[in-house]
Parts: sequence; C-alpha cells; structure tokens
Amino acid sequence: MKVPLLDLKKQYEKIEEEVISATREVFESQQFILGPKVEELERKIADYCQCNYAVGVSSGTDALLIALMTAGVGYGDLVITTPYSFFSTVGAIVRVGARPIFVDIDEHTYNMDPVKLDRTVSALDEEQRSKVKAILPVHLFGQSADMGPILETAETHGLIIIEDAAQAIGSDYEFMDGKVKRAGTIGQYGCFSFFPSKNLGAFGDGGMVTTNQEETYERLKIMRVHGSKPKYHHSIIGGNFRLDALQAAVLIVKLKYLNEWTEKRIENARLYRELFENEGLEDVFLPLEKEKRHIYNQFVIKVRDKRDELREFLNGHDIGCEVYYPVPLHMQPCFRYLEYKTEDFPVSIEAAEKSLALPIYPELTGDQLSYVVDIIKKFINQN
Ligand SMILES: *Cc1c(COP(=O)(O)O)cnc(C)c1O
Repeated sequence: MKVPLLDLKKQYEKIEEEVISATREVFESQQFILGPKVEELERKIADYCQCNYAVGVSSGTDALLIALMTAGVGYGDLVITTPYSFFSTVGAIVRVGARPIFVDIDEHTYNMDPVKLDRTVSALDEEQRSKVKAILPVHLFGQSADMGPILETAETHGLIIIEDAAQAIGSDYEFMDGKVKRAGTIGQYGCFSFFPSKNLGAFGDGGMVTTNQEETYERLKIMRVHGSKPKYHHSIIGGNFRLDALQAAVLIVKLKYLNEWTEKRIENARLYRELFENEGLEDVFLPLEKEKRHIYNQFVIKVRDKRDELREFLNGHDIGCEVYYPVPLHMQPCFRYLEYKTEDFPVSIEAAEKSLALPIYPELTGDQLSYVVDIIKKFINQN
C-alpha cells in the first residue's frame, strides 16, 4: 500500500471543475493584481478567522515581513520567538534588522513555553528590555500557542504580538475565562500562509495578514504596494507584497471546503490515537491536544530512539513521513552570530531528534492509517 505524506491530486479531483471556472473568470477579466477576487477572499478570510480585517499578501513569509515592517520593528530592536519553527519565522525578524531572542518550547505542544518566556523577559536588563518590541509566537503544527499567559507577559511589558499562524488557520484558543478566539486574531497581527501544503493551500504562493485595528489595516495595505499612497507618493518604504487574483480565485473555492477538510484531519488524528492505543505502543508519544481546536496541519509523533531508522523503514514501506524540523533555528549556520549554544534550548533539540510527522491529510482512508500504525509496530517489535 502507498501512503504519501500529502496527496494534493486527490483533493484537486473533487474541485477541478469549480477551480477551472473560477480561474477562467480571472483570465477573462485580465485583472491579475489585487482587485475584486482578492478583496472577496480578504472578507471571507476575516469572517473565517473571526476578526475585522485581512490583507492578502504574496506568501506566509511576506506576511511576517510586512507585519514586522508595519509594526515599525527595525534596526536594533529585539523580537522574542522560538527556535523550533520554519526558517522564515526568524528569517523575517532578521531581514528587518532586528535580533531574535529565543525561548524554548513546551515538550508536549512544540509551542513557546510561556513560563520560559516570562523568565526570559524578566532576566533582561533595563536597556535590553527597552529594545524588545514584539513577541512572535508560532502556532506550530496546527495548535494554538498558549496565548493567555503570553498575552499577559506582552501587556506587562508593553509589547505587541505578531502571531505566526501559517500552520493554524481555523484553530481555536480558549482563555481561562472561557472566551474562545481563533489563532491569528489574538495579537495585533496574525500571519497566514497559503503554501500548497498548508490546510488552505493555493496553486502557488500566497499569504494573509489579519488584524482587528482599522489603522493597522490601512497601513498594511499601503505597505503592500511599496508604501505608496496616493500612487507614486511614498511617505513610508514598503514592498511588493501583493497576492494575485488567480490565487485568490482558487482560494475562494477551496475555503468553502476548509471546515470539512479540517474535520477529516481531526477525525484521522482520533483514528491514529485509537489505533496506537489498541496496539499499546508505549514508545510512541502521540501529539498532546492541549488547546481548544487543533487543526492538524501535521500529526507529529515522538519516539524514544532510532527516529531516523524508523523514517527509513517507513519510506521503505511506501509511507511518506518528514522531520519538522531537523535543525533548530539557533543551530543554523546563518545564525551563528547570535552565539547561542546547542544546549541553550534542550526541548527544541530533543524535538528535532525524536519527532516525526505522519500522513494526516483529509483524503486518507482508514486502511491507510491502519497500515501506517502496523508498519510502525513492526519496526518497534524488531528493535
Ligand atoms: C509555511 C510557514 C511559513 C512561511 O510561509 P510561506 O508561505 O511558505 O512563505 C512561516 N511560518 C511557518 C510556521 C510555516 O509553517
């Protein structure tokens, strides 16, 4: 049996006609840059995320970049984030001239550990603390970071929050008082990606920034077109961060199915749990569902040891799997100048050594899920 890590062709089969007719409209209009399709998508994403405004941008990476630029984060500033994320979380911080301060993750959720965040901010001297401008939590693998205490730390120190929600569209966070908010709408900026492998994927690159503040929304729109308003008059320096109409047309079609697809991912996660529990595989640690709604962009297990051998074994049995991420960001050669040591973030290091993402996409069958668990069991029994 073949079980790829992701099979987008299966999804395309179901929406082919709709997508083709939506893109044909764009071809016929010959309006490719921004325009009504992008505006329609922005309204629908704002509704979906339960926030006031959304601004379509060229990628998830550019969403982070434009949010930092719009927030005025720049040279000499400090931004707090985790070393366990996709590269662009930190790449964006450095590209605006700021310096990242890392905080280790929680071992069960892979998200920023709020206790360590507070400890890190409190340990800074007066001068450093005055340079910290933002906290950039990542909602990794589709589960919201623990935003309640992160928000408290931000408010105590007068910091803004820019959420990296690239993997978390539609995931929810419940506050202590029972209030529920969608990932990406809790801080001042929420950054989303429509990279094809995300839960809502375009036919190319795309992204979105969400906000609840009108002033921020207006500034984001100006920043997206080189800081130009009116046209050819620049009071700020922006860039070309535009989402194109073809991607918007595809995404409008796909957004209608997003809840259905997400529910199937959640159901697959439930099935995996049942299968693993029935087998009594004690050396496989399943992802903890700590927050309100985990949307399972990835289903990431941890194993006691021999993760790389397991990966090979699965590949040898036609099962796709991947390590997100093999090298924590504080260990990347390009960030050596930050002078972090490997052991500074032991939880991230452990996650990089022991975690493995299994197939979780909506179109998987029960047989495929059983097969994955069977092969993992076979590996564990042999080792
Ligand atoms: C995918 C991703 C990004 C970047 O999005 P692109 O659209 O690929 O630029 C940023 N952060 C995280 C956590 C991601 O998963």
